[in-house]
Amino acid sequence: MNQIVLKAGKQKPVLNRHPWIFSGAIQHVGGDPPNGAIVDVLDSHRRFLARGYLNRASQISIRLLTWDESESIDSDFFRRRLRRAFDARNELEQSPHTNAYRLCFGESDLLPGLIIDRYAQYLVLQVLTLGMEQWKQCIADLLVELLHPEGIFERSDAPSRTKEGLPSTSAALRGREPTGLVEIEENGHRFLVDIVKGQKTGFYLDQRENRQKLCAHFHGAQILNCFSYTGGFSVYAARAGARAITNVDSSRNALEIASQNMALNGLGEHPTDYVTGDVFELLRDYWRSGRTFDLIILDPPKFAMSRATVPSACRGYKDINLLAMRVLNPGGLLATFSCSSLVSADLFQKVLFGASVDARRDAQIVERFAQGPDHPVLLTFPEAAYLKGLLCRVY
Ligand code: SAH
Repeated sequence: MNQIVLKAGKQKPVLNRHPWIFSGAIQHVGGDPPNGAIVDVLDSHRRFLARGYLNRASQISIRLLTWDESESIDSDFFRRRLRRAFDARNELEQSPHTNAYRLCFGESDLLPGLIIDRYAQYLVLQVLTLGMEQWKQCIADLLVELLHPEGIFERSDAPSRTKEGLPSTSAALRGREPTGLVEIEENGHRFLVDIVKGQKTGFYLDQRENRQKLCAHFHGAQILNCFSYTGGFSVYAARAGARAITNVDSSRNALEIASQNMALNGLGEHPTDYVTGDVFELLRDYWRSGRTFDLIILDPPKFAMSRATVPSACRGYKDINLLAMRVLNPGGLLATFSCSSLVSADLFQKVLFGASVDARRDAQIVERFAQGPDHPVLLTFPEAAYLKGLLCRVY
């Protein structure tokens, strides 16, 4: 029997159902389990606490799957957990105008290290840990059984896999690989998604509800969509009556798809610009040249990769927000986001406060944003709350 005994006093987070056990909490490893194996976790008095998978090569040495001693980890276990995750997305599944959403969000769905996204008839699977890697084929079989997709594409190319000692993989896992871009629908808007080579698993599904919420503010506005990627916010904005839109992204390829997405929605003639460039530089240029906008969206990539980089990430957030405030017309709106889980909503608000003081602009919070309901946050795992945003009116 593979048993891990914790040091005295280290059982508290496990009793509180936090799914991670760090290497420093381990007293003794019994049974010589290989990395990736299922192990029982015992307290220092050798009482059962939980069951999970081991990877001693990672700082997070164990990720927990169950706290019920009678529950074995087998394909029935994964079928139950997947069903529960899919049932929780039932409202999205029933929605006649949305067919792309996250079906499984790792730890939050009690399946640590496993991401599953649905893009119309395709599924994209992302495995982030060695322990979950052992179950990959079993999970692919269960997905075929439960959802009958046209294909399952694996995008296990997240940088965090190196911490687990895993190589990067990107290939068809079941069915056929899509021949081109996959067309999805989101709140009645159509988008082309590159599930093979696009960023993340192809589309920023976590912003769905925020795109919809902003529709109340787009009409008649001159919009600057910074870090636009494939134009998610812009398609919503144009259809909601935006006067003109400028998209800025460093990826020419993403902007090319953004323009295809506008055309796909009958917006090919909308006054829209596509600027390939660096948002930091471009905002500075706009400020120097006196160009202004009515509504600015700032949805940058993750700036804080580790605790050590939080201060420099905050300087980055402050810079772009300060510049954006400077190029907003008085009374204009700033929709600003951070997807760094290490930058809390409180800290992000403090950064915005600093930016408004330095810009000498009064800014009011009129709305708060978070990730959508298909990216839930388990109360026992608050680390899953990564996306936060503010809508500020700036005078
Ligand atoms: N708002 C988008 C998602 C943004 S993801 C949506 O709703 O789909 C972040 C984007 O920022 C990526 O497309 C990436 O190519 C781009 N990016 C990263 N650094 C950048 C920079 N310094 N200047 C401009 N774009 C940048």
